Amino acid sequence: MTLQNMRPAMEKCVRCGQCRAKCPSLEANEGNVPGWEIYGPRGRIQLAIGLLDGKVKSSTVVQDGLFTCFFCNQCVRTCPSLVNVTDVILETRRHLVERGCAAPQVLKAHENISVTKNIFGLDQADRVDLWSGDVSDLVESHVGKPARTLFFVGCQGSFKGDLASIPVRMVQVLDKLGEDFTLLGEDELCCGNPMELTGGAEEAIKALAADNVKKIEALGVMQVVFSCPGCYRTFKTVYPPLLGKPLPFTPLMFSEYMLGKIKDGTAKLAAIEGIKKVVYHDPCELGRHLGIYDQPRQVIKSIPGIELVEFKASRENCNCCGMGGGVALHDIKVSDYQARTKAKDIEETAATTVITHCPACFQGILKSCESLRAKGKQVKVLDLVELVAIALGVA
Ligand code: SF4
Ligand code: SF4
Repeated sequence: MTLQNMRPAMEKCVRCGQCRAKCPSLEANEGNVPGWEIYGPRGRIQLAIGLLDGKVKSSTVVQDGLFTCFFCNQCVRTCPSLVNVTDVILETRRHLVERGCAAPQVLKAHENISVTKNIFGLDQADRVDLWSGDVSDLVESHVGKPARTLFFVGCQGSFKGDLASIPVRMVQVLDKLGEDFTLLGEDELCCGNPMELTGGAEEAIKALAADNVKKIEALGVMQVVFSCPGCYRTFKTVYPPLLGKPLPFTPLMFSEYMLGKIKDGTAKLAAIEGIKKVVYHDPCELGRHLGIYDQPRQVIKSIPGIELVEFKASRENCNCCGMGGGVALHDIKVSDYQARTKAKDIEETAATTVITHCPACFQGILKSCESLRAKGKQVKVLDLVELVAIALGVA
């Protein structure tokens, strides 16, 4: 795909502005010029057309406009002309990156993924050791072994120590359920999602896809379980067209996998002391991008004694936590502003626990709750994997 190929999609835009109503980045760019057209979907399309026609020259302002989109997909949902705005934005980012026009930290992230195979530029040999801690023996006994189910950990869970609890609880849950499971260990490569979102080269993403799929297939795996919607969406929707063939296994988000185990009676979830009123935050890449809203809620409701409440803007309307679209990489201030906006949504629900289903959202919602703490309100944040692990008695 090239930006030129996207021209017919861009020209479907009639500039009605309906997409602006729900775009979070129009306001989140408060440190730039809030409400300025280039920080919204309609203006971003016009920037793309201008770049293509040579009427707009790349500059840091143009980069700010295009790289502060959260990939939340609210605009795609609202557009009456059915313009796939996020496709246009991603392709325009690629157009800029190909010309070296992106923030140094974005280009460095691409280089890290190409060289070290993870976004952090860390040593692949540490991909398991950095998170496995107390369950290292359990993990080591499963890494690289042929099995029916593979847990794809992802870079965030593998390398960000403060997120280690998510993969730890995942292997404990799989073990408790008697699942025949495996992991790629240090052979697992970045799925390519951060590159896709921030204009990375298609060939580089394709190489990651081919390598990951080949190694998983070699273990005879039938299904791959994900705790990260970014990895999950990339496998499910980006890999098949890039590789020109369907995946040789079924990708499943943890909530889909878990709901199956609850329904077939394998998993018995018990009441949890101290967790009563919870609200579920829909990750953009799982909800609006893939339509997965019910499964996480059904898993939560399967835990006796839990009251699940909803945000005023819930499901298809759920507001982004600020961590989507690589915005935190380009400009952390814009991301943080959105996290503070999300705090208002949380406060309105009076929930005492927020359940996330994404390592990036976990970080965004933690920031939201920090701003609530500053106001004397204590709200706990748990990933769905952690919640289930507690309800199964393994955490
Ligand atoms: S992208 Fe769609 S909703 Fe937005 S201005 Fe264009 S036609 Fe209207
Ligand atoms: S994906 Fe979200 S942040 Fe990006 S332009 Fe659309 S509404 Fe705005």
